[in-house]
Amino acid sequence: NIRRLVLGNWKMHGALATNGQLLSAIRSAWNQSSGAAACDVGVCVPFPYLAQAESALTDSDIAWGAQDISVHAQGAYTGEVSGAMLAEFGCRYVLAGHSERRSLHGETSQLVADKARAALAAGLTPVVCVGETLAEREAGRTLAVIDEQLKPVLALGREAVAAMVIAYEPVWAIGTGKTASPEQAQEVHAAIRAALQGVDCAGVRVLYGGSVKAANAAELFAMPDIDGGLIGGASLVAEDFLRIAEAG
Ligand code: 13P
Repeated sequence: NIRRLVLGNWKMHGALATNGQLLSAIRSAWNQSSGAAACDVGVCVPFPYLAQAESALTDSDIAWGAQDISVHAQGAYTGEVSGAMLAEFGCRYVLAGHSERRSLHGETSQLVADKARAALAAGLTPVVCVGETLAEREAGRTLAVIDEQLKPVLALGREAVAAMVIAYEPVWAIGTGKTASPEQAQEVHAAIRAALQGVDCAGVRVLYGGSVKAANAAELFAMPDIDGGLIGGASLVAEDFLRIAEAG
């Protein structure tokens, strides 16, 4: 009974011309589909294309958002983008703590929680990403890692957490073609659900991400604690993204 959400994460892909085709293809197909009754859909695009996404998707059933946010409201923070700026371009969602930000840009779980708080302050829905590396999984540390990553986020309190989305993205499944099995994902999602229950937020959506494809989306989304997906590579191909959304 939790409404599903399928979000595309374009990462650092795209160009004005190809984005235009992709956005208009998903807009028209999704508006004609009955899927919008069952599932929310959105795309998280690179900052320079937010205005393009806004103009292409306004008054459609597809939301848009960004892939990162500053913890600061304004000031001398060269290269950073504030939540208020994202809100001005109609963003609904913003990713916080994607594993590529954590590993390539040194984002700590406390910083990720601060970003989630900044997003909420700007009226955006933060999508807080968590996930273990292969080495952590093989060491049997998966649930402990997820717990550590969630801790400062859950510390923001019930009201904040209730307005978020959580995405479980095992690092070893991202961009590798190695999807977690539905059972592997469900085990972690159930643990995340239990942690959310601890702050009275069992209704928060928990998305799975990591090599989700049209061919495996339905079996993942059928698991009891998987409430949709965060889609990388497949979100760049209109037909694939739409088939995943239809499974939502
Ligand atoms: P892929 O779907 O390309 O594996 O990427 C997943 C992801 O990182 C989405 O945020």
